[in-house]
Amino acid sequence: MTLSIPENLEKVRQLISLYQEMYARNDTPVQLIAVSKTHDADAVKTAFQAGQMQFGENYLQEALEKIETLKALPLVWHFIGPIQSNKTRAIAESFHWVHSVDRLKIAQRLNDQRPESLPPLNILLQVNINEEDSKSGVTLDTLETLASEVNALPRLKLSGLMAIPTATNDSALQRQNFHSLRVARDKLVLAGFTSCTHLSMGMSNDFEAAIAEGATMIRIGTDIFGPRIPARDRL
Ligand SMILES: *Cc1c(COP(=O)(O)O)cnc(C)c1O
Repeated sequence: MTLSIPENLEKVRQLISLYQEMYARNDTPVQLIAVSKTHDADAVKTAFQAGQMQFGENYLQEALEKIETLKALPLVWHFIGPIQSNKTRAIAESFHWVHSVDRLKIAQRLNDQRPESLPPLNILLQVNINEEDSKSGVTLDTLETLASEVNALPRLKLSGLMAIPTATNDSALQRQNFHSLRVARDKLVLAGFTSCTHLSMGMSNDFEAAIAEGATMIRIGTDIFGPRIPARDRL
């Protein structure tokens, strides 16, 4: 049986509370970001009507269409996909959070293009936690340098770290990866990056491990909206 979006949301919320309890993480608020990529504005609206305000998108063009369609609603938009330089202006103008900054050039452009009428853009640095060549993300050994550079940009607010570890069903390995991100975050805070507090980690397949390791934001798509819709089947 497939559940509706409101039922799925309720289930995910209950699991978040359960895991916070199980792993003694009740002191760490966990924000649920509903990843609506490939799903249409109606799906986002249905989730909003069930109390969801934070949404994550990967693909700029489809995101901009949804943001425009739903601009009357008080939604908070998170950009979580890879960023090409020619996309930074629209991201800086339309999003509240960006989770996927992994190089200075992109950060500089977002800073320069963030409209003065808006508050500084919240930035998470994407870390390539498993040091995979194919993955985006800054490596752990250059993270602090990038953090310093981003911290110096006045139109950005360095707000935390994000990672997409190598997919695995081994929960011990999931926790190990998330733990590395947490250690990196703790080091930055100790080094004086006091606003760098968020840990964006955990997706449908591994958010239990992420909460166990102190996630403050989890990014859930499939468990809320169902399987992603292939481009050819979208309206
Ligand atoms: C698609 C995506 C998600 C959501 O993944 P699910 O497995 O569907 O929950 C989370 N984070 C990023 C960066 C994504 O691209």
